[in-house]
Amino acid sequence: MLPSALRQLVQAFSGLPGVGEKSALRFALHLVLERPALLGQMSIALEHAAHSVRACQRCGNIATADGSEPILCNICSDPARDNRVLCVVARIQDLFALERSGAMRGRYFVLGRLLSPIDGVSPEDLPIAQLRACLHENITEVVIATPPSVAGEATALHLARELGDSVTVSRIASGVPHGGELEFADAITLGRAISGRQGVRG
Ligand SMILES: [Zn+2]
Repeated sequence: MLPSALRQLVQAFSGLPGVGEKSALRFALHLVLERPALLGQMSIALEHAAHSVRACQRCGNIATADGSEPILCNICSDPARDNRVLCVVARIQDLFALERSGAMRGRYFVLGRLLSPIDGVSPEDLPIAQLRACLHENITEVVIATPPSVAGEATALHLARELGDSVTVSRIASGVPHGGELEFADAITLGRAISGRQGVRG
């Protein structure tokens, strides 16, 4: 029933997290019929992003692919960052929030997921090997900044067990509400959470 170009657009939208087929159709019709200029803008932005935006090969942050290898983000390639501290976050949004707070001057590692047996995420699914690869000899402390939720705490404990033998592991202080996302915490709260971090034993 739908023209194939529109069908492709609906299919693409319904591949996004939280977007069902009905919403995908609504988005597609809205763009095509009411916002053709935005559709053109999106097409350029999508193509640009597809060519130049990648995950940092060291930490998982967003990086720009400029032809050089390995692809590193602006934090990994910044010589002024504190090489002794590595901050582990669940998501890139949490890294952004900590960067906005200015409280973390070290480097990061983005896990991309949290331990959650209910959702089928077991310890083997965590990128421990990649994380270990980031633990070069200069690192003296790993700060675990996973959210203060059940999954975030379980992940923190697991990481402390895995890494505790080779490096000091600390956990951000509470202050971020339990179950809350770091992304929505204000800079002062995040600053306190980082400065009040405490050692964890696995
Ligand atoms: Zn990086």
